[in-house]
Amino acid sequence: MDYLVRGKFVVTMQPRYGTQGVIRNGAVVVSGRDVVEVGPYRDLKPAYPNATVVGSSRYWVIPGFVNAHQHGKGLTDFQLGGMDDCFEISRFAGDARAGLDPYLDVLYACKTMIESGITTCLHYNSSSSPDTYEAGVNERLRAYRDAGMRVSFGLDIRNRNHIVYGDEEFLASLPASLRDQAMERYSTARTAAPDDYFRVARRLAGELGGDGGRARLFLTPAGPQWCTEELLRAIRREASEHGLGIQIHVLETKYQRSYFLREYGRSAVQWLADLDFLKPDVSLAHGVWLNRRDIATTAAKGAALVHNPSSNLRLRSGIAPLMHFHAAGVRLGMGLDSSPLNDRPDMLQEMRLAANLQRIPGAGPGLMPLADIFRAATAGGADILGWGGSGTLEPGKRADLVLVDSRPIVEPYLARHQSPVDALIYRGGAGAVDTVMVDGEILYRGGKHVRLDEKAFLKEVKRKITPAPRRKAGGVDARLLPRVREFLESHEEHPVEPFYKFNDAG
Ligand SMILES: [Zn+2]
Repeated sequence: MDYLVRGKFVVTMQPRYGTQGVIRNGAVVVSGRDVVEVGPYRDLKPAYPNATVVGSSRYWVIPGFVNAHQHGKGLTDFQLGGMDDCFEISRFAGDARAGLDPYLDVLYACKTMIESGITTCLHYNSSSSPDTYEAGVNERLRAYRDAGMRVSFGLDIRNRNHIVYGDEEFLASLPASLRDQAMERYSTARTAAPDDYFRVARRLAGELGGDGGRARLFLTPAGPQWCTEELLRAIRREASEHGLGIQIHVLETKYQRSYFLREYGRSAVQWLADLDFLKPDVSLAHGVWLNRRDIATTAAKGAALVHNPSSNLRLRSGIAPLMHFHAAGVRLGMGLDSSPLNDRPDMLQEMRLAANLQRIPGAGPGLMPLADIFRAATAGGADILGWGGSGTLEPGKRADLVLVDSRPIVEPYLARHQSPVDALIYRGGAGAVDTVMVDGEILYRGGKHVRLDEKAFLKEVKRKITPAPRRKAGGVDARLLPRVREFLESHEEHPVEPFYKFNDAG
């Protein structure tokens, strides 16, 4: 089917249409899966008389958003009964959470992402047991296929530090009975063992990523503190051999920072650089606690960084120094990490949060421009996830695009000289997303899903949720948690020099 997708503005991201790449009263010609032409609507309409027109001057046309880091969790941790606490602590309420089967959960995640204009994502798999690892991976992949989203599917693995950063020392500090219970509950890997991991990876590398598919394989080791040097070297080799991308959580929290300083006498980024792990096919998720040298190293290695401002706030991780990454020339993407600020995906709001969190007091220069934040959430993320054939609206690219209803943005008045990209970031929200196209296929139109029978699907989700059990007082977690807090804090001795200063308590 050929489409002529028109709007008052078409944000192409092509420099030939100005710094923000915007065509006024423009259109995008889509044939099959591809964008074949962009330009003024009045020129394209007569040239493609048989194309179906989608949109009108009420809409703006933009490239689809790329959620470059998320875990395929449709129901949020909060909805399921999780604790609202810092990252390390919130992991300890596993049994008090409600459950939903992985297929339905990922399909629900896709539904909410599509509704917010996200066309591509990185799925960072979160497995719960080696026994169900492969089946879980297959089910989640099936959900992405059924949803129609473009996905870089990341296989997770971890093989050390299952409880805290420094399991041996921590376990040795516990009374014997609590130690046994803690080991029974937490000290075994919840992912596949390395041999199984690479077997699954090889099978999927053969199955995915063929021309025309919407899924490709990524290797996503959980993080340097959770993977041994030997495992990371094997992953590095595997990725290079098979042309796979890598994403890894790096320095999300201050406790991860202090672990590397105490264990290795250097930061996690320097440790990874010394392993020759960092290359342009690697993206770091979070990076809240990178220092100046780490940022320079990341840039020099050509590695990318995926910024997750909502999640970093909610999990008490901190505020990543976005403008310093940008100034150093680090390639950037944006991610929602399955824990966005409103508890539902909204990439427009996430960009607004990123834009505002960097606004330190004063009139000094150096803020990351809004257009570059928009680029990170579209073309930048697509490039990081190995989908460079999409992410902008230009001939030859895959047709991944979104129609945004401009009324909530421009009503009752918006000065003519304000750039539409700036206006989207300051005034846009997921609610304004009207139509979503992936690979030339319309998945969402007029606020309604095309593939998904929404009513029946929501009914099934409700029916299949296993409710959260009542939290037991005095259980293992309740006894373990104060010890974990104490352990984490006892190792936090390194002074912090903040990138951003918001006030002064002196
Ligand atoms: Zn994550």
